[in-house]
Amino acid sequence: MEDWEEPQRILVVLAHPDDPEFFCGATIVRWTLAGHQVVYWLLTCGDKGASDPMIDTGELCVDRHVEQHAAAAILGVNEVHLLDYPDGYLVPDLELRREITRIIRLERPDILVTCDPKTLYVGDNRLNHPDHRAAGQATIDAVFPAAGNPLYFPELLHEENLQPHTPREIWICGTQEPNVRMDGTLLWERKIQALYQHKSQISDPRALEERMRSRRTSDSTTENPRYEESFRRIILG
Ligand SMILES: [Zn+2]
Repeated sequence: MEDWEEPQRILVVLAHPDDPEFFCGATIVRWTLAGHQVVYWLLTCGDKGASDPMIDTGELCVDRHVEQHAAAAILGVNEVHLLDYPDGYLVPDLELRREITRIIRLERPDILVTCDPKTLYVGDNRLNHPDHRAAGQATIDAVFPAAGNPLYFPELLHEENLQPHTPREIWICGTQEPNVRMDGTLLWERKIQALYQHKSQISDPRALEERMRSRRTSDSTTENPRYEESFRRIILG
């Protein structure tokens, strides 16, 4: 499917802890099992992922770091970075674009995974989180033209010796305009196991499992469910 002949370096840039697992956990584990190296850079630590007004958000942030590392490990990802921008307030400004440009030049990925900034709502009953849109917008704007052009954020080159770099492919998840559908049926269990690690986000594990199992493709049945993760794959060459 991916037609990659050599092990790839894959950089995942998303907004929150649990985003990689929800958006593309089955595909990530497929890649690590195939010998590709996956690294996460998450922009916030999800410190508003609670509804108790008295919660200590600093403690929640620490807990979510721990949960995210555990979830990533189940998918074969051992490199996880969280930038701890304030959850919910992410904006695709030049400061964020510069930070992601820095990450791209530092990690030098072959493949970059992010989410679709154009997704405002999903179906008839769900709005997309503004951080997801901001993360996708800032990341795509960093890929082109900033990361590959030495004239953008020149201090990255002159002060940190971060050479220009452009990923070869961008895989955009959470999209309404997919051109690739990855079969995740055999790895769905692993995806659910990874999601379970985000304990602070789960009030009812049974409900989570049911929700994830109900996401089967329209052409499959309860007895023989099939699961997919879809992406807009852009090959920059
Ligand atoms: Zn999220």
